[in-house]
Parts: sequence; C-alpha cells; structure tokens
Amino acid sequence: MSPYDERCPVCGFRWSAVSLAEVPDRVRGAAEEIIATLSAMGPRVGERMAPGRWSALEYGGHVRDVLVSLRERVLLACASPELAVAASMFRDERVDLGFYARDTLEAVATELRALAALFGRTVASVPVGLEGRTLLFPGRDEPVSVTWLGAQAVHECEHHLADVREDLARTMG
Ligand SMILES: [Zn+2]
Repeated sequence: MSPYDERCPVCGFRWSAVSLAEVPDRVRGAAEEIIATLSAMGPRVGERMAPGRWSALEYGGHVRDVLVSLRERVLLACASPELAVAASMFRDERVDLGFYARDTLEAVATELRALAALFGRTVASVPVGLEGRTLLFPGRDEPVSVTWLGAQAVHECEHHLADVREDLARTMG
C-alpha cells in the first residue's frame, strides 16, 4: 500500500488528508492539549496505568522526541540531493535505557511546547518545490515525502493526545 493511502488502525488518521500548510497549527494545538492533559493528571502523570502502556509523562516525552526526529528528517530530505535514509529513532530503547527517567512535567511541557513551535517553523520554511522530496523512513519500503513527514508529526501528536486523555480518564475512573 502506498503510504499516502494509509490509515491508522487505532485512531483512523489519514496521512493523505493533511496538507503541509495545516501542519504547524495542528501540531501546536495538539501539543498544547497534551500539556494540559499531563498537567491535569497531578502526581499520577508518571504512573503506567496498564501493562504495555507508557506513563502519560513518557508519552509526552515520546512526542517531544518524535518532533526532534521528524524535524531532522525534513531537513535531511530537503538538503540531500540523493535519496536519504533516515536512521531509526529507537523509540522503545530510549525509554527502556532510562533516558526519560529524569523527565519532569515542567521540563516536558517546556520542551514539547518549544519543539512544536520549532517543528511548525521548520515546515513553514520548506522551500517551494521541495515538499515532494522523499527519504527512506525506518520500517517502510517506499520513500515518504516531506509532506508525509509533516502529516506524521500531526499523527504522532494527535494519536498520543488520545493516549494521555485515556490515562487521565483512568485516574478519574
Ligand atoms: Zn493513530
């Protein structure tokens, strides 16, 4: 299947439905909602609510790191005249190795807000004509475009917003 026809089996997100122009506002908006949700969880923000789930704070840290990674991939695709190959971000290893262990709500909120703003500026700065530049994305057979990378950032923010909202609901259940 082309990545452009893809739909998230969990949240129903469609990458092809997102234009690059709407990415900055949607990323910033979802990031603010994540921050508000983490803040509403109080001391339970660092608690893993169920087996196989991260804590809400870890989801926030993950989204922060995804935005770092995707920004680098946008820059790589735009700057590389050859088809570039993006390295894996090792999403689980980052958590398992303890790289999120010193994260606090205040730090994640500050960093997530800053990264969402930076990613928005990055996407808004993509030179005209380079939106279709592609790279090889970890785990995918077909190259993905800069526009897809922008949509992926929206998906990560909105998909994990649903995760942290689920965690907040569990604290109130
Ligand atoms: Zn999803």
